[in-house]
Amino acid sequence: MHFFRYRDHKLHCEDVDLEQVADRVGTPTYVYSATTILDHYSRLDAALAPIDHLICYAVKANSNRAILKLLANAGAGFDIVSGGELFRVLAAGGAPAKCTFAGVGKSREEIDYALEHGVFSLNVESEAELDQIDRIAAEKSLCAPIALRVNPDVDPHTHAYIATGSHENKFGIALYQIGAVYARAAGMANIRVAGVQMHIGSQITEAQPFANAIEKVAPLLRELKSKYGIKFFSIGGGMGIIYQRALESGSGKWWHDHGGEPSAFSVSDYADAIVPPLRDLGIQVLLEPGRFLVGNAGVLLTRVRYIKQTGSKKFAVVDAGMNDLIRPALYQSYHEIAPVIEPNKSKPDKVDIVGPVCESGDFFALDREMSELHEGDLLAIMSVGAYGFVMASNYNSRPLPAEVLVRGDKFALIRKRQTWEDLARGEIDPL
Ligand SMILES: *Cc1c(COP(=O)(O)O)cnc(C)c1O
Repeated sequence: MHFFRYRDHKLHCEDVDLEQVADRVGTPTYVYSATTILDHYSRLDAALAPIDHLICYAVKANSNRAILKLLANAGAGFDIVSGGELFRVLAAGGAPAKCTFAGVGKSREEIDYALEHGVFSLNVESEAELDQIDRIAAEKSLCAPIALRVNPDVDPHTHAYIATGSHENKFGIALYQIGAVYARAAGMANIRVAGVQMHIGSQITEAQPFANAIEKVAPLLRELKSKYGIKFFSIGGGMGIIYQRALESGSGKWWHDHGGEPSAFSVSDYADAIVPPLRDLGIQVLLEPGRFLVGNAGVLLTRVRYIKQTGSKKFAVVDAGMNDLIRPALYQSYHEIAPVIEPNKSKPDKVDIVGPVCESGDFFALDREMSELHEGDLLAIMSVGAYGFVMASNYNSRPLPAEVLVRGDKFALIRKRQTWEDLARGEIDPL
């Protein structure tokens, strides 16, 4: 369930009229629905109830502290990929003992920080990294809990930039090599072999690739459990969401509500595919969803600045740019774009929706069929809660957008819009 809908011809996030948010905070602004995030979290949690499990939200998808706090209060752990993310989790009141630390290039400082705070596990991606962790743990007279990231070599059927679980990716250690690395790890004085981790890709819309991967990894898990008493298996994240769906207009219907399922990815299919084989293993299961929890929970509000007609083409130039939301440029991703005020006489039109940045790749939609747009129209770019704001930059010296969190009929600014002064902060004139 995604809590965006038209009510009295105005797009609402939960019970908040998005036009009011734009009037108060300006545009471009990211708006997130707290209820949507918590709904997704509790559905996943309930579906996994038959097995001992921990949901570790992948912080990189959206790392605003208010969102981390929301999930920490709901009982979530966190999957972090940098010391900065651990810092944010701690600042949001998250428990380090529920944090797994992933990433192929952890620095000495980051490993230090993670060990000092007693993270649940460091997920290791190479032997060189394992040696480094053992050395640092020895200096601290600690025993570092680790999991190796296994690369099961499966095809997740997703975009090449977000596929991570085939042998051609930089991620993880191949199945045929991993037994030997575990043997080495088990012999290290300051390493405790705690689990196994995998993550096969992102925006995966079927349950089958997960089931295939578990099937490939299960013999290894059994062997490691009996040899070293491993305690957990992390199946990673990657559950996909809906990006493309006709808007339900008028009539107070929830935006892309379809039969109670929260996304393209069916939680019940997922649970049906993974729960039985995982239950048989008898170890704790970790999940690391990012996009699934927050993706559909966010929109980017933007206003049309100019309408421009050249030959047969029509452009709507909006005040958000690729620096605010890079997904269409980077992944050719599709985002639904909805007028915040539903036009009463819909006139069909075809338009490119582009930003003000000096790049041809600065667009949100090409040849999009939608009702005619006008200067000043307010638009909501849908499903941008994941990998939206976190990838925003100051390119073209554009200040970062504001972020707002909605819950029920209330909304709060959770990140101030940057100012021009912010842009030059930290820069030093050497003369
Ligand atoms: C990015 C990432 C995730 C989250 O991926 P989603 O597709 O957003 O669910 C989980 N685990 C690891 C190791 C990752 O790198």
